[in-house]
Amino acid sequence: MRTAGQRTGAAGEVSRVVVVGAGVGGLAAAARLATLGHEVTVCEAGPSVGGKLGLYEREGFRFDTGPSLVTMPHVLRALFDDTGGWPADLELVPLDPVARYRFAGGSGFDASSDLDLLCKNLDAGLGPGAGADWRAFLERAERVYEASRGPFLEAALDGPGSVARLAMRQPRDIAAIAPGRSLRTLGRRHLRDPRLRMHLDRYATYTGSDPRRAPAALAAVPYVEQAFGGWYVTGGLRRLGDALHQRAIERGATVRLSSPVERIETEGGRTSGVRLAGGERLAADVVVANTDAATVYGTLVDAPAAARRLARATPSLAGFVLLLGVRGRTPGLAHHNVLFPTDYDAEFDAVFGTHAAPVKEPTLYVSAPDDPQVRPDGCEGWFVLVNAPRHGAGPGAVDWRAPGLADSYADHLLDLLAQRGLAVRDRLLFRHVLTPADLEAQTGAVGGAIYGTSSNGASAAFLRPTNRSPVRGLFLVGGSAHPGGGLPLVTLSAQIVAGLVGPA
Ligand SMILES: Cc1cc2nc3c(=O)[nH]c(=O)nc-3n(C[C@H](O)[C@H](O)[C@H](O)COP(=O)(O)OP(=O)(O)OC[C@H]3O[C@@H](n4cnc5c(N)ncnc54)[C@H](O)[C@@H]3O)c2cc1C
Repeated sequence: MRTAGQRTGAAGEVSRVVVVGAGVGGLAAAARLATLGHEVTVCEAGPSVGGKLGLYEREGFRFDTGPSLVTMPHVLRALFDDTGGWPADLELVPLDPVARYRFAGGSGFDASSDLDLLCKNLDAGLGPGAGADWRAFLERAERVYEASRGPFLEAALDGPGSVARLAMRQPRDIAAIAPGRSLRTLGRRHLRDPRLRMHLDRYATYTGSDPRRAPAALAAVPYVEQAFGGWYVTGGLRRLGDALHQRAIERGATVRLSSPVERIETEGGRTSGVRLAGGERLAADVVVANTDAATVYGTLVDAPAAARRLARATPSLAGFVLLLGVRGRTPGLAHHNVLFPTDYDAEFDAVFGTHAAPVKEPTLYVSAPDDPQVRPDGCEGWFVLVNAPRHGAGPGAVDWRAPGLADSYADHLLDLLAQRGLAVRDRLLFRHVLTPADLEAQTGAVGGAIYGTSSNGASAAFLRPTNRSPVRGLFLVGGSAHPGGGLPLVTLSAQIVAGLVGPA
């Protein structure tokens, strides 16, 4: 048996790999590393896999408790292709409309992945010219995406040096990314209609950020949604977690549930294994941590410089979720519905301000898949999500466990839905509430922050933990590490980590 001091990832050498956490990133990394020939054991703290890609089943309903929209499906396809092919029982279906947007004054539009149709809808819903403005903006956004995908999304970022190298090689790419400019500023420059600007602002929240402080580079997010579409997994997105679990096992990985890791152990400055709660020790040449980076550097391993750097970043926003079992069908309800508030800035002030508070009039997101596999006949399962400050004490956080708060806020959201034409109380079979504190308890996301750190601020991308940790043999995968949160980026992070570890 090799000792922990041996080099890992050398061609022809099998490493013992322990993956800490069976979220999407952990499972994807496990499938890839097992395919590369390594001996892989996944230790998951909870009783099931998937992490934030969670499931809640009740009275014949199957609710996704986390992701509801798949973007950049080619990233998922690449993962499955590289590890044995697309699973026969996993069906990805394109959505059209991708989402139905409504503004406070009553206007709105349906987003379509057919750009001509989208522009027509924008002209009809917001007024002539809105379509042309959005089309021109997406052309600008495409340049951002093309400039950032190789060096930032698909490669291991190693700090400001990565940008310096890009600047030397491709100054035009750096100009496209518009460093120093916020997403909000970019929107003001290109979009005349305040509702279109609001629409653009929303994409900052897909990385857990405030559009007033998030970089203009996030313009790539609406571009990829337009270019690659919005997709649904038949039976619910949770099926993707099951498919990844299956794939990791098929490739030879062992997945241990209810096995929380208490400590990543090191010897001579490199990983030597993990210690589970209860004391069991697993030796490893490589440890891939899929746990929240704040936990990795806060409690699992000693890496004080990395911990200090992480502490300088603003945590991402969290979410407050209502799962509603609804009798009957609701006319005009699309698969994804977004109801914008009157004052979007008030929402960001409440979520990111030092006096954080539940948002009084938040953007309401309602996902109600018309899929017989996830709801009983004649019913609808609504997933309602609003942005929320993270759970905790002190500035920027809210104690979501305060007696009565979750229930009264859920009541408030039902009132708001009714005011926006979605009165549902009389048809409710049940409601189930998930606060940021619940997400923290169920997945280990510190404070329930969905994406680890936000992209707020010019240096945010460099405060986000890199995939290669300062401890030799320890790698970070998942939404709180580079390149960021959301299913496609998390899947890319697994690809990057597998590349860093290399084949057996
Ligand atoms: C409400 C909500 C809505 C979302 N909507 C979308 C969407 O529409 N589209 C999209 O693309 N993304 C969306 N996301 C984001 C997406 O879900 C995440 O970015 C992604 O699932 C995170 O995966 P991950 O690999 O970081 O692992 P996580 O899901 O964070 O999983 C980490 C795993 O590690 C385990 N763990 C933690 N500590 C330990 C330990 N000490 N020992 C062992 N195991 C441990 C946890 O139990 C968990 O299973 C949403 C997320 C949420 C919460």
